[in-house]
Amino acid sequence: MKKINKVLIIGGGASGLIAAISAKKKGAEVVILEKMNRVGKKILATGNGRCNLTNINMETKRFHSSYPKFVMGALNRFNVNQTLDFFERLGISYKIEDGGKVFPMSDQASSVLDVLRYEIQRLGIKEICEAEVTKIVNKNNKFILYLKDGRKFSGDRVIVATGGKSSPNLGSNGSGYGLVTPLGHKLITPFPALVQLVLEAWFLKRLKGVKFNGKISIFDGNKPIQTEFGEILFTDYGVSGPPVLQLSRKAGELLNNKKSTPFICIDLFPNFSEKQIDDIILTRFFNYPKKSVEFSFVGFINKRLIPVILKEAGIKDLNKSCCNVNITERKNIIKILKNWRIPVKGTQSWMQSQVTAGGIDVKDIDPNTMESKLVSGLYFSGEVLDVDGDCGGFNLQWAWSSGYIAGESAAKKK
Ligand SMILES: Cc1cc2nc3c(=O)[nH]c(=O)nc-3n(C[C@H](O)[C@H](O)[C@H](O)COP(=O)(O)OP(=O)(O)OC[C@H]3O[C@@H](n4cnc5c(N)ncnc54)[C@H](O)[C@@H]3O)c2cc1C
Repeated sequence: MKKINKVLIIGGGASGLIAAISAKKKGAEVVILEKMNRVGKKILATGNGRCNLTNINMETKRFHSSYPKFVMGALNRFNVNQTLDFFERLGISYKIEDGGKVFPMSDQASSVLDVLRYEIQRLGIKEICEAEVTKIVNKNNKFILYLKDGRKFSGDRVIVATGGKSSPNLGSNGSGYGLVTPLGHKLITPFPALVQLVLEAWFLKRLKGVKFNGKISIFDGNKPIQTEFGEILFTDYGVSGPPVLQLSRKAGELLNNKKSTPFICIDLFPNFSEKQIDDIILTRFFNYPKKSVEFSFVGFINKRLIPVILKEAGIKDLNKSCCNVNITERKNIIKILKNWRIPVKGTQSWMQSQVTAGGIDVKDIDPNTMESKLVSGLYFSGEVLDVDGDCGGFNLQWAWSSGYIAGESAAKKK
């Protein structure tokens, strides 16, 4: 008689839920153990409640890992088309937005979780909540999972789908790392990514809430590392907004390297050259030479930015007439408007970050099956691994691909 594998899945997030479905469809008996009071809490928060479930422009460069080749291997085995097909069959019609981002037609992240849960119930998969796994023991080709509340579960295969450390309020607090490092798996030091940047500057409290569409780059000393465009928001600790989140992984890498000196460089007017900005300023000064230098910028720059920019440009007396601004001062203003360099002190914490960079070293995982090379029958999926993607649906795609493969392989393993 054909043996049925009992697959225990630790974590009912995006990757754990899809792993459960693919394992069950391949004939396994499946149990999901989730530490929170319900599964999929993070899915509900994705894409500002709309769930950017994947991206049609899948490219290696959108993923980060100490071993980048690993990522595409797995993504090709359960790719974007297969993912869209999978969700369409479950009932998710979808639409494609700017940059290839895919959202459910309903614009509701809850609909993605609803159809996954419907399928889980339909297939008879056991879902146990408030079940926090604290230890994995592997003996005689069997696994025993020990729970915080004293319960024990045994199975033939285990999938670790515990997520990273980001947004611990939604369940993932890094507890998965401690489950597998005693089994020999290495941890690449995790750090928050897709997160706001904390800056070292005197003016932040004054600029809190100021928004603009601009260009922002991250520099290591004088070396530009990455540039992004879009809406940037000043906060009382630093900067936020989509382009800032995209830069934050590089910022995190630089901050972890003691030899680096990370700066951001803001261009408030990316569509204008320095010469064009100079012409605009000269015209304004020429038209109203008696206006104070501060007032002369009203209508051109956000009013709350003006005094800060002038002070950063070294102008002490903001009341002096603009006809008395000398060439050096004018050049300094242009420099701030086009190349405003501000030192980066850090990133916001795990609570604010959307994704975890670093995690369990993928060198010890087979990308074809997501099985551990160290412990037979142990599988991994999702963000617990040292894989993270850019903003735009790449992280969920990683969760779907790795989860689907892990589930199928765990069910099929003889
Ligand atoms: C606010 C926010 C918005 C996001 N928006 C998007 C987006 O639009 N598009 C996108 O691609 N990505 C987005 N992401 C990232 C994406 O949600 C994650 O990369 C993805 O959910 C990771 O899936 P996972 O299954 O690996 O981990 P998770 O979804 O974090 O799930 C892990 C699960 O394991 C459980 N768990 C942890 N430890 C244990 C334990 N010891 N025992 C039992 N259970 C345990 C947790 O409670 C949790 O339910 C967003 C993230 C956040 C925080």
